[in-house]
Amino acid sequence: MAERRGRPGVHLIEALSEGAEEHVEGPESWAPEVAGRFGLPAAAGLGPATFYADLAVPHGRRHVRVCVATACFAAQGGRHLPAIQDVLGATADEGLNQEAGVSLQTVRCLGYCYAGPACLDGEMPCVGPDVVDQVAGRVRPQAPPIPASDATGDPVVLAGIVAGDTAWRTWVETVGRRSPELVRSEVAVSGLRGRGGAGFPVAAKWAAAGGSPDTVVIANGDEGDPGSYADRLLMELDPARVLEGLALACFACGARRGLVLVRSEYPRALSAMRQAVERARADGHLGRGVHGSDVDLEVEVVAGAGSYVAGEETALIAGLEGGRGCARARPPYPTSQGLWDAPTVVNNVETLAAVPWIVRRGGDAYARRGTPGETGTKLVCLSERFARPGCYEVELGVPVRWIVTELGGGLREGARLGVLQVGGPLGGFLSEQGLDVPLTEEALAGHGAALGHAGLVAVDDRQEPLDVLQHVWAFAAAESCGACSPCRVGSRRGLEQARSGVPPGDAYTRMLKVMGEASLCAFGRRLPHAVRSLVRAYGNRLREWDG
Ligand code: SF4
Repeated sequence: MAERRGRPGVHLIEALSEGAEEHVEGPESWAPEVAGRFGLPAAAGLGPATFYADLAVPHGRRHVRVCVATACFAAQGGRHLPAIQDVLGATADEGLNQEAGVSLQTVRCLGYCYAGPACLDGEMPCVGPDVVDQVAGRVRPQAPPIPASDATGDPVVLAGIVAGDTAWRTWVETVGRRSPELVRSEVAVSGLRGRGGAGFPVAAKWAAAGGSPDTVVIANGDEGDPGSYADRLLMELDPARVLEGLALACFACGARRGLVLVRSEYPRALSAMRQAVERARADGHLGRGVHGSDVDLEVEVVAGAGSYVAGEETALIAGLEGGRGCARARPPYPTSQGLWDAPTVVNNVETLAAVPWIVRRGGDAYARRGTPGETGTKLVCLSERFARPGCYEVELGVPVRWIVTELGGGLREGARLGVLQVGGPLGGFLSEQGLDVPLTEEALAGHGAALGHAGLVAVDDRQEPLDVLQHVWAFAAAESCGACSPCRVGSRRGLEQARSGVPPGDAYTRMLKVMGEASLCAFGRRLPHAVRSLVRAYGNRLREWDG
């Protein structure tokens, strides 16, 4: 399809990534030449090369990515970043230490929220309270394994990891024997909704895009929500289950082509997914006439280039077409006009990982879990400040307090909770008094929060509330894609105000209102809710900042 439109798609982003690796100068000096190789004008190279963080930052022989997202911030109040800058003699995101050939890039996040602060030194993780010593070479780098556990007694999404289920069994039983309608109907009965944050009913999305041979299904592994590492866990430890879910989704939609987008901050997940695709081809799960049927299916794994907003489905598609990963107005929805204008389904990795279980056990079995309005299970990720951090599968509707105390064991080292971030930067914050809320989208919305990707990041009471507010605005200013002015301008003004430390006036309140109502995508529209919920969760300690 890309060839039909004469556009290079991800091949341009891959070539730009190679350019960034090869040059110590900024993209202005090399991106036009890369675009020229594809017969494109300079702007076609400079656009994405100055947009994606991985391409815009100079790369030395040694390139270190430092996580500054919420869980790593909460672990040590963000002190690890200046310490690493001192050790490496390089300023993050600005230039490189020419003599040592070292460059430094800030990222949000690396998916080690259970053990931070975290860095990636090349592809080597350095994680834990002694991260600075690891980067300095004084102690061995280490990446603790992800603690994963089922709290339901019969895991759905963690089935392969916790219970050792065999992936691809449902695919083999389904292809050529069951109809696509049957798969769609079981998923409709299950009530499964997208687990990436938007919560759209999966069967309705499939129905909207199905029926065209050009339909594409994309597994969205661009898990940008700081605080969640569920998708990394699934892609690294059970990539075959993710692929099996993608294959079943393609089957249900009549699609012959699937894509897996893995964020560049997850190099191990990227290589695990690529190996799993190779194995699936060798075992006959993919290819032409799969398992003797008339089903043809090819899957390709693509790497992201560093952008939070590029996980939003229209932005993700823009990136796959070789452009800046900016969101666009809808309609048209991707299900009718998506990648290269073809009908396109974008499903989150965790969503797809639930599909094999649903097809094998039946939609009714899934719908009996959770609440009547929000069925099934959800992976929740607990951050490093908990006594028992890790990724747990729970039924929707369990009280957040039960997750915090029974699964997480409360906070570690006798620390006391300041606020609990639920659902990432677009979610919201709960106070200790607010923890009795059930874990559902509807109940959390009633508390000014959101389920999001269900990362639970504890901020203990050592952190100053104004520092936390600055952290939220700094994330917004760094990750706004800039496509619309309410969010582009508002996120920077919000950061300036928070950094000034001066309590805001009416202009700030008006700015939050405009952002919330006029921003183009959920990023800008949700941020004012997140900021207000933080202020309310801190009560008297931030009252003057209530907008
Ligand atoms: Fe980009 Fe923010 Fe506008 Fe979304 S709301 S399109 S992230 S500038």
